[in-house]
Amino acid sequence: MEKKRVLITGAAGFLGSHLCDRFIKEGYYVIGMDNLITGDLQNIEHLFALEHFEFFHHDVSKFVYVPGKLDYILHFASPASPIDYLKIPIQTLKVGSLGTHNLLGLARNKGARMIIASTSEVYGDPSVNPQPEEYWGNVNPVGPRGVYDEAKRFQEAMTMAYHTFHGVETRIVRIFNTYGPRMRLNDGRVLPAFIGQALRGEDLTVFGDGSQTRSFCYVDDLIEGIYRLLLSDYALPVNIGNPDEITIKQFGEEIIKLTGTNQKLVLRDLPVDDPKQRRPDITKAREILGWEPKVNRAEGLKITYEYFKSLPKEALFNKEHKDFTTYNK
Ligand code: UDP
Repeated sequence: MEKKRVLITGAAGFLGSHLCDRFIKEGYYVIGMDNLITGDLQNIEHLFALEHFEFFHHDVSKFVYVPGKLDYILHFASPASPIDYLKIPIQTLKVGSLGTHNLLGLARNKGARMIIASTSEVYGDPSVNPQPEEYWGNVNPVGPRGVYDEAKRFQEAMTMAYHTFHGVETRIVRIFNTYGPRMRLNDGRVLPAFIGQALRGEDLTVFGDGSQTRSFCYVDDLIEGIYRLLLSDYALPVNIGNPDEITIKQFGEEIIKLTGTNQKLVLRDLPVDDPKQRRPDITKAREILGWEPKVNRAEGLKITYEYFKSLPKEALFNKEHKDFTTYNK
């Protein structure tokens, strides 16, 4: 039987590369696409030798052409850390808006089903906790995160419009903080930041007083949720994340323990519009997909730490690291 063909955008990124692995494992023909602004080919290097994988170096903000049939499109191309939004705000807006429009057009043309990577950021700095899908959010459109948040909100609106108006089969996953191997060491996100600092022998920089909360999901759990949602028949947004909520200060203490570093936590200014609390309500995912996270933080962090330790030493001190250390003095 002919293999099903899937297009994955952001294929060289953290989530995109794990999705490529999963769909290869499930027996699909996988077409990866990435402009490599924040992605890294090393994440998918092992796939190039496979007969059922191909890669297009392309920016989906421009017209997207893919020959042949397509069964599924997974749109996972986007910068996804606050430091990236500050460095490349226009690309962030374009990939979520123009890129989504191009891919929805492609999905319509090919009769493919499309899932978009939305985010807990659509809830902004939420005034309800945990956040159910029905909550509309509290977003500052003109703040530093606005370029990401509003692109993702537009992306959801555009996707629903293609669904209702053009009858395109669409799925929307709202992804909460996720971690695991292949995160970029110096992208500014809290987990690689803390582990990188521990490995370099620096103090761990807690922003604000560290009382803000996040809920961290291990990447394998997230990929399972996305896979199930794509194959489901549910077109409204579904939260996928781990509801185990923790303050950033406690999280820093966990990383100190995990890495055995002698360094301590130091407090730095809280970035503008940093959400005070974040925790997914996953009732829908449980009921509709029969999904819930399986990997607890202790297990997930251990695997992730091993990954960061295995990277070449130079990775700890590259140019991005300089950008990162000047980002929040
Ligand atoms: N954070 C921190 N120290 C760092 C990097 C981030 O205390 O070196 C905080 C950040 O202010 C936020 C939380 O950790 O409150 C999660 O930040 P991240 O950038 O990972 O994700 P997001 O804010 O998008 O959830």
